[in-house]
Amino acid sequence: MLKTSEQTLDPADWRDFRRQGHSMLDDMFDYIENLRDRPVWQAIPDEMRQGFRQPLPAQPGDLAEAHEIFMKEVLPYAIGNAHPGFMGWVHGGGTPVGMLAEMLAAGLNANLGGRNQMPVEVERQMVRWVRELFDFPETASGLFVTGTSLANFIGVLVARTAALGLSVREHGLADGHRLTAYTSVSSHVSIAQALEMAGLGTAALRRIPVNERHQMDTAALEQAIAADKAAGLMPFFIAATAGTVDVGAIDPLAAIADIARREQVWLHVDGAFGALGKLAADIAPLLQGMERADSIAFDFHKWGQVPYDAGFVLVRDGELQRSTFASPAAYLHRETHGMAAGSPWPCDFGPDLSRSFRALKTWFTLQVYGADKLGEVISHTCALARYLRQRVEATPELELLAPVALNIVCFRYRGAPVARPNLDRLNADIVIALQESGIAAPSATTLNGQLAIRAAIVNHRTTAADIDALLLATLTFAAALQCNPHLLTETR
Ligand SMILES: *Cc1c(COP(=O)(O)O)cnc(C)c1O
Repeated sequence: MLKTSEQTLDPADWRDFRRQGHSMLDDMFDYIENLRDRPVWQAIPDEMRQGFRQPLPAQPGDLAEAHEIFMKEVLPYAIGNAHPGFMGWVHGGGTPVGMLAEMLAAGLNANLGGRNQMPVEVERQMVRWVRELFDFPETASGLFVTGTSLANFIGVLVARTAALGLSVREHGLADGHRLTAYTSVSSHVSIAQALEMAGLGTAALRRIPVNERHQMDTAALEQAIAADKAAGLMPFFIAATAGTVDVGAIDPLAAIADIARREQVWLHVDGAFGALGKLAADIAPLLQGMERADSIAFDFHKWGQVPYDAGFVLVRDGELQRSTFASPAAYLHRETHGMAAGSPWPCDFGPDLSRSFRALKTWFTLQVYGADKLGEVISHTCALARYLRQRVEATPELELLAPVALNIVCFRYRGAPVARPNLDRLNADIVIALQESGIAAPSATTLNGQLAIRAAIVNHRTTAADIDALLLATLTFAAALQCNPHLLTETR
């Protein structure tokens, strides 16, 4: 039982608490140092789940015991994105430096909504670094948020202010508003959600087709804008993608920026993982045109390897972002001295008032590793993706299902030409078998109606040996599933 000093929640015996704390820290160092000895992922046993169906504890428990529960029942059953074999969805690997910084931030317990404090200056330093990285002017504003989903939403809201003026804050949208937005069919679902949440509705979203490289078809974009203008509608927002979630395609950003300027439409770039390709010498040229965007949404927690969560939104017209969100309230009154000085505050640039110190783990990551090293990690993940592509192309039983632009490879097992099983089911089961094996963990997606095994190499720990292990296990499980069709999920 944790003995607390009278009245407070602090320990009565700090020596004891310190010892326990150090062992917790050591356990996490051990976990990260020895990740490779573990499976990437393992299914949660039923009794473990049941362990977290307990009634609300009224009495104090023991810290060491809570720690033990965490080590035995939580840590081994996480999704595994810290592991080098993790290749599912787009998840960053995190770093030990980020972990330590997160501990410091939690100890300080700063509220980054605003006020006159150095933690806010750390976030402002981060905003300056982001501006520098993306070649944005000094008048641009930036804000840490949970993730790109929220950053996309903020992009839509600021663009809505640009289109309708500040009166939209008071009057909202007229019934049957005339605003229309544009994004490719390959864009992330959070773009459509942002339109829903902004009250604009997805009926106002035009889904522009893509070319064979999964990039937005700019001629179709121009036609859609022209058709809407001819119909008396008001095109206001283009969401281009730098690194689509399915295949890692980059929309033709420079051409889209030309269209946006000509048509006087806001250009937002969803660069959730791809935007940080700017850090890598060989990827940055592919992102040309992004520097002309009105807003960019991206995550430090994906390719930037910062522990979750650390999304970011950068807006060229900082004053417009501020005027979209800033609200007068007596308790948020500003002064020129004292703790209420230092306006504007981060809370003036978005919907969150209380905010965590995400800037600290991100600052530590850049300060300790340096931008070049992070860029090299990004380049390396792309090199591994090219290696995987080459090996897929050299393996007759496998086929590539999409071009490899960055760090994502979509392929499938196509089987021997004689037997033609249900390839979608077979490949879905290969993905499940890979995940359950703990060897390598890709995810699945559907491309042109075909189920694809999708490997997104995001983790700085992944090596060529992990790619080899993925391929070997893919072929092994494919053979086993074909020899034993009863193993296929459908027939189970
Ligand atoms: C991951 C991702 C998102 C969503 O970002 P979150 O940080 O998960 O909110 C949006 N767009 C793209 C292209 C993504 O890859």
